[in-house]
Amino acid sequence: MSKNPIHIIGGGLAGSEAAWQVAEAGVPVVLHEMRPVRGTDAHKTDGLAELVCSNSFRSDDAQTNAVGLLHAEMRLAGSLIMSAGDAHQVPAGGALAVDRDGFSQAVTRKLEAHPLITIQREEVPGLPPADWDQAIVATGPLTAPGLAQSIAEATGADALAFFDAIAPIVHFDTIDMDICWFQSRYDKVGPGGTGKDYINCPMDREQYLAFVQALVEGQKTEFKQWEGTPYFDGCLPIEIMAERGVETLRHGPMKPMGLTNAHNPSVKAYAVVQLRQDNALGTLYNMVGFQTKLKHAEQVRVFRTIPGLENADFARLGGLHRNTYINSPTLLDHSLQLKSRPGLRFAGQITGCEGYVESAAIGLLAGRFAAAERLGHTPALPPLTTAFGALLNHITGGHIVSDDEPGKRSFQPMNVNFGLFPPVEAPKSEGKRLRGKDKTIAKRRAVTSRALADCRDWLGLPSRAEAAE
Ligand SMILES: Cc1cc2nc3c(=O)[nH]c(=O)nc-3n(C[C@H](O)[C@H](O)[C@H](O)COP(=O)(O)OP(=O)(O)OC[C@H]3O[C@@H](n4cnc5c(N)ncnc54)[C@H](O)[C@@H]3O)c2cc1C
Repeated sequence: MSKNPIHIIGGGLAGSEAAWQVAEAGVPVVLHEMRPVRGTDAHKTDGLAELVCSNSFRSDDAQTNAVGLLHAEMRLAGSLIMSAGDAHQVPAGGALAVDRDGFSQAVTRKLEAHPLITIQREEVPGLPPADWDQAIVATGPLTAPGLAQSIAEATGADALAFFDAIAPIVHFDTIDMDICWFQSRYDKVGPGGTGKDYINCPMDREQYLAFVQALVEGQKTEFKQWEGTPYFDGCLPIEIMAERGVETLRHGPMKPMGLTNAHNPSVKAYAVVQLRQDNALGTLYNMVGFQTKLKHAEQVRVFRTIPGLENADFARLGGLHRNTYINSPTLLDHSLQLKSRPGLRFAGQITGCEGYVESAAIGLLAGRFAAAERLGHTPALPPLTTAFGALLNHITGGHIVSDDEPGKRSFQPMNVNFGLFPPVEAPKSEGKRLRGKDKTIAKRRAVTSRALADCRDWLGLPSRAEAAE
């Protein structure tokens, strides 16, 4: 059996975790990290797994929070990022925050000390040479330009984005369907549609004018100087459109034409906000054309003034950032391998996940898949019911590509969230149906306990009950 090394490009959150997983499986690794030979616009040190901004891994609650669940699954899978994070934790309430320097130094030391890992401080200028038969590209949102260009050449220019343009996503079960209704504009069926593919939220004139004013006055985040101002055709932030004139949105993403309010057919809506199904499970809907630079708290405040979204729970809020990522659902197979070049995997934020923990989790999976293949096994995919599986499925297949806006990229980066999991029935309490917050918490607990049991099973670990015996 060949024990050629697996080459990993990029020693960030994903690459560091991938290198650890490969080496722990008994396979040699060469980890190529360009810092300090070449820097990025955001990194400040030459440490591996540097946290470029906040020092938080977000909630550590594995029972009712999706990222907390991902922490727990990563710990079960022997994650280096989680063990270094736990060892360098600083007080942060229910969140896991870390001393960033201590954390990065711990990861660097562990990788340097591993007998199967070689670290080469060099920029990899293009796609791996042919004699690297197994490689993982984990170069992150600030991938060096030479490599980014070769990825674009190999995948097609449209398949690599340099900015994201994120519209908010809402959990379907928090949309008030007594106010909203399903209908496609002019009832068009289109390829694969039903004529009822959108959720429509109606506004009267007064509501519309107040909404436009709130968008214009809302607090926005600024672009960092090195990001430039990445507005491009068809992707203007909603508040920039609102600033162009009070009627602009009504002639753009909020146009009411071709729509009849099923709850009140005789009254024509003055404007309509449309939401489109985002995942195959039908649990998530994205707000069409609502990419935005409004601050997150402002988005929640302003978007909850939309009729039908008063109680909306957002799986993702909008944003526009510099971010290099590929159109993974089209390009990658389920084990993160480039379909056109088997043996070459992608991991981390470049695959279209978002966040430190998610990037590391996808690194963990890519490392395990690559090591399994090197050892002559078929990689075992995590079940969709786990946080690993739900996130992997978003990247490699669960997202629905919209047919009615040809040429537009609908795949956008996403944090792990409960909308990515197959739904569960809300458990009853003493035979009675739960409502409101109690129902949400009970459902989340059911999802997380199913996930942890399935994750243990996938990893070949004894169940919690067996482990306790
Ligand atoms: C400015 C900014 C702020 C962010 N803030 C947060 C935050 O607060 N919280 C959060 O959860 N997420 C944040 N993110 C998102 C994301 O989670 C992080 O970027 C995360 O570090 C991604 O992990 P990664 O391993 O995919 O990439 P990175 O951690 O960026 O690692 C990629 C590595 O590849 C190296 N590299 C690049 N090109 C090459 C090459 N050609 N050859 C060799 N090495 C190369 C880089 O030097 C880098 O070390 C932020 C992103 C950005 C850009």
